[in-house]
Amino acid sequence: MGFYAEMHHLSHQQPRYNPYQAPRQLQGVLPGSSCRFQPAGGEGAGLLQPYCPVPSAPAAPAIDATSPDPLKQEDVGDQPIGCGMYGVVWAVTDPRDGKRVALKKMPKVFQTLSSCKQFLRELQVLIFCKHDNLLSILDVVQPPHVDYFEEIYLVTELMQSNLHSVIYSPQVLTSDHVKVFMYQILRGVKYLHSAGILHRDLKPGNLLVNSNCFLKICDFGMARAEEPDELAHMTQEVATLYYRAPELLMGARHHSSAVDMWSLGCIFGELLGRRFLFEGKTPIQQLDRITDLMGTPSEEAMQMACEGAKAHILKGPKKKPAILKLYAMSSGVSRSAIEFLSVLLELDPAKRISAHNALSHIYLREGRLRYHTSLCTCCSPFNTPAYAAEFEPIAPCKFEDAYEKNLTSFQKAKETIHRILQEHQKDRENPLCINPLSGVFNSFIRIHPGMKRRGAHRHLFDPQE
Ligand SMILES: [Zn+2]
Repeated sequence: MGFYAEMHHLSHQQPRYNPYQAPRQLQGVLPGSSCRFQPAGGEGAGLLQPYCPVPSAPAAPAIDATSPDPLKQEDVGDQPIGCGMYGVVWAVTDPRDGKRVALKKMPKVFQTLSSCKQFLRELQVLIFCKHDNLLSILDVVQPPHVDYFEEIYLVTELMQSNLHSVIYSPQVLTSDHVKVFMYQILRGVKYLHSAGILHRDLKPGNLLVNSNCFLKICDFGMARAEEPDELAHMTQEVATLYYRAPELLMGARHHSSAVDMWSLGCIFGELLGRRFLFEGKTPIQQLDRITDLMGTPSEEAMQMACEGAKAHILKGPKKKPAILKLYAMSSGVSRSAIEFLSVLLELDPAKRISAHNALSHIYLREGRLRYHTSLCTCCSPFNTPAYAAEFEPIAPCKFEDAYEKNLTSFQKAKETIHRILQEHQKDRENPLCINPLSGVFNSFIRIHPGMKRRGAHRHLFDPQE
C-alpha cells in the first residue's frame, strides 16, 4: 500500500469518488482541512516554522522563539506519506495559514553534477508551470548559506492519493471517473507540451488525486524541454517500462511529446481494465506485449528503430492488431473508449495523436463538462454558470533550458540552485524553515530515502530499474 493510501487508512474512511460533487462541499471532510491535523501548540509546533535569520551562524538551525514551551510540541500530525529515490515526502502544516501541505525533503541532490542538473530541471519546471492539473510548488524552505547548503526542502500542494492506489483499491471506478481523470491528465499534458516540456514519466503513481476527483500531474524529475534537432541524441532511459513508448523500446535516438501520449494510452487502458496494459519484464518482452495487441509495426513506424530492434520484430511472425480484445477488459468499455485508446496507442510516433487533438475526441466530452461544472477554478459556479473562454489553456511561453549549458561544474550547479531558491523566497515576508524542536524532528531527520522504496511520489513501482 502506498503512503498516500496508508494516510487514508490512518486518518479517514475510504473517500468516495464522486465527480458530481462540488469541491466546496467537500472541503470540510478532506484530511487537509480536518481539525484532527491542526497543530496543538500554535505557531512553530510542526516541522515547518517561520524563518528567523541568524546571520552570525548560518549553519545553525533556527530557534523558534515564539513558542512558549517547545517540549509540549508533540502530536502535531506531521507524518511521512511517501518515499522514493530522491527523498521523502511529509504531510505537514504551514504555520502561517494552518493549511496542510506536502514537504519534500531531498537530501541527495548534491551528489554529482548530473543529480544537481536533474533537480534543477525539476525545480525550473515546477516554478514554470502554473496550471490547475499540474502540481505546483508553493514554497521552499529558506536555504542556509551556500557553504552549508546540503538538503533541499520543497513545499507543494498536498493531495490525498494517486491513481495507482485508486486503480488497485477496491473502490468503485466508473466510466465517469475514468473520463474525468483522462480529461484532466490531457488538460495538464496539453499545457506541458505547449510549453515544449516532455514529462517522460507519466504513470498512475505520478497522477495525484483528491477524493473529489481533482487530479494533478506530479514528479517532473524526468522532464526536459523538447529537442527540435532530430539528429540530437536523447537518452532512451525514460519512462517506467510498462509506460514506455515503442519507439524508445526500439532504441530511437530522438523522441518527442509522442512518448507522453503513449504513456497516456497505457494509463487509460489500466484505468479501464484495472490491470497493467502491457506488462513486460524486459524491454524486449515489453515490445512483444505491445505488438501482441497492436500488431507488427509498419516499416514507417520503425523508421527510428535501431537495427537490432528491427531484426527482432522482423524475425518473428507478422502479428495482426488485436485491439478488439480490449472489449473483454471490462464490462463498461464503450466503442468510443476503444477508439480513443487506439489513437493514443498508435505505434508510429509521427501519427500518434497530440494532446491538443486528443482533447477534441468525443470520448472526453462528458469529462470536460463534468470538470467545468463541478471541479474547475476557471468557470463561474453560480446560478448562471459562465464558462471560461478557454477550457484547456496553453502555456504563455516556451520553457527554456538554455541555462543548463552554463552548468559546467558541480559548484556552479549548486550555486545556481541556491540562487533560484533564494530568488523564489525574495518577496516573502515570512519565509519558512525547519523547526528542530518539533516532536517529529528526529524521525524526519532519520528517515533516509532508499530505506523503503515505496510511496506515491517517485518510482512507485519500477519493474526495470
Ligand atoms: Zn472551467
